[in-house]
Amino acid sequence: GLHQPTNFIQNIINADLEANVYGNRVHTRFPPEPNGYLHIGHAKSICLNFGLAAQYNGLCNLRFDDTNPVKEDVEYVESIKSDVKWLGFDWEDREYYASDYFEEMYQFAIQLIKEGKAYVCDLSPEEIREYRGTFSEPGKESPYRNRSVEENLDLFQRMRAGEFEEGSRVLRAKIDMASPNLNMRDPVLYRIVKAKHHRTGDAWCIYPMYDYAHPISDALEGITHSVCTLEFEDHRPLYDWVVRELKFENPPKQIEFARLNLTNTIMSKRYLRQLVEENHVEGWDDPRMPTISGLRRRGYTPEAIRDFCDRIGVSKSNSMVDIALLEHCIREDLKMKVPTVMAVLRPLKVVITNYPEGQVEMLEAENNAENPEMGTRLLPFSRVIYIEQDDFMENPPKKFFRLSPGQEVRLKHAYFIRCEEVIKDEKSGEIIELHCTYDPETKSGTGFAGRKVKGTLHWVSVEHAVKAQVRLYDHLILEKDEDDQDGNADFKAKLNPNSLETLTECYIEPSVSHAEPGTRYQFLRHGYFNVDPVHSTKDALVFNRIVTLKSSWEK
Ligand code: ATP
Ligand code: MG
Ligand code: MG
Repeated sequence: GLHQPTNFIQNIINADLEANVYGNRVHTRFPPEPNGYLHIGHAKSICLNFGLAAQYNGLCNLRFDDTNPVKEDVEYVESIKSDVKWLGFDWEDREYYASDYFEEMYQFAIQLIKEGKAYVCDLSPEEIREYRGTFSEPGKESPYRNRSVEENLDLFQRMRAGEFEEGSRVLRAKIDMASPNLNMRDPVLYRIVKAKHHRTGDAWCIYPMYDYAHPISDALEGITHSVCTLEFEDHRPLYDWVVRELKFENPPKQIEFARLNLTNTIMSKRYLRQLVEENHVEGWDDPRMPTISGLRRRGYTPEAIRDFCDRIGVSKSNSMVDIALLEHCIREDLKMKVPTVMAVLRPLKVVITNYPEGQVEMLEAENNAENPEMGTRLLPFSRVIYIEQDDFMENPPKKFFRLSPGQEVRLKHAYFIRCEEVIKDEKSGEIIELHCTYDPETKSGTGFAGRKVKGTLHWVSVEHAVKAQVRLYDHLILEKDEDDQDGNADFKAKLNPNSLETLTECYIEPSVSHAEPGTRYQFLRHGYFNVDPVHSTKDALVFNRIVTLKSSWEK
């Protein structure tokens, strides 16, 4: 049979199944913090976690890691749910919130205090950092480290009751101030935050830290394999400490994989938020954003994003993926699926002087050259048409196979035309229209073989065309950035000032006239386009360019 190669995570799961560590259970989770919109990096984690569950007949939870009330909001919860669904994954009734475990987490902390494994520390955040030491020197023990259990219980309860100021006290695990791993030097478990939480309101003024809340949430949900990104590798001993000291049976195990980094964009929520707040983009769903909502609005399909996540695979070492691969995936997905239509983005008027005035011919045109099952449509042809300004040159260089004075080209699905005269504005000298003649013998589909032309142009009939706005997008970030983006705060210097070009006078063949938001097309010779769900209206269509037709990836 076929050998399916396995990745290192599947190898770990296979070994656990073999050793009966969790019986036959495989249970993963996707744990976003609701402090922003999901991006394509999250899609990798979603595909991985839900994909593993599906592959092993297991389960995957959606868990909101909502332990930081200052940055979180229900708006983000809602967007995350709709993005995960849109990507094609279903958590069914397994929607969880770390905040639902606040009481249990608190009781576990009491347990740790009673066992002498946690203490209330009055050092300031700066002092805690200072006492922690560095990689090369051991830490110093807090003067509060040896408080009695009774005093710790009393102080922790009063922390919860709101008696102390933010930053005045924390609860810390009592582990090892000399550990070579800084995360094990009495890490903070709880801090005081006097902010309203989007779910628990004012019920709490102490909040658990990620490193404490995450393993507990995993264990309470019966997670077997807790997959996270590589930056948490150094936190794994603490994860293991928490589940061990709290005596969970069959505790979950943390497995780290390399996060997705993509060229020509930024991916950290922190920086994406900055783009939104400083109005560099229209919002989290701006079609230039690498967010799921931005990609969706741009016209990306869930299939293309899932295919991309499959192709990049999972590994243990960080690397940079070329954004051209993502663009390749959407082309591959759309090429057989969407109709090809003719759209003139920068119009130049052409009058076909020997074509009878008032005559309209309906020409049969295939909808998708690569997929005959998509059938044909009728396309109106008449005496006055638009072609692309770029498709005409008055003084062409050699090998210019488009239209120029005296030259002949084919109009796609229609006839050969020859340029007879260039009409210019008397004052400015600007070309305002061309006068051409057509040869009725050359009608497309009749098998005319009398002579050949080298160029085929797209066009639309002026009288029948739909006027639309078309938005052309380019990459957000100009350089390919090989640096770790999290350590790179100067991304704004590399913002592409021309990432959006708006064309307001485009003409598209009438078959698109009733296109609903989210309808995708190939515009012949231009690329793939989507009806923008935000700006498009029935009477004024707005199209987003999803992607151009070719890229260096495919050359
Ligand atoms: P960011 O740094 O963009 O804020 P995050 O890791 O803080 O991302 P979370 O909401 O905590 O965002 O992420 C939820 C899950 O998605 C985590 O398990 C995280 O590891 C994973 N994830 C986030 N970014 C990436 C990425 N670029 N590649 C793969 N997985 C990612
Ligand atoms: Mg996080
Ligand atoms: Mg983050």
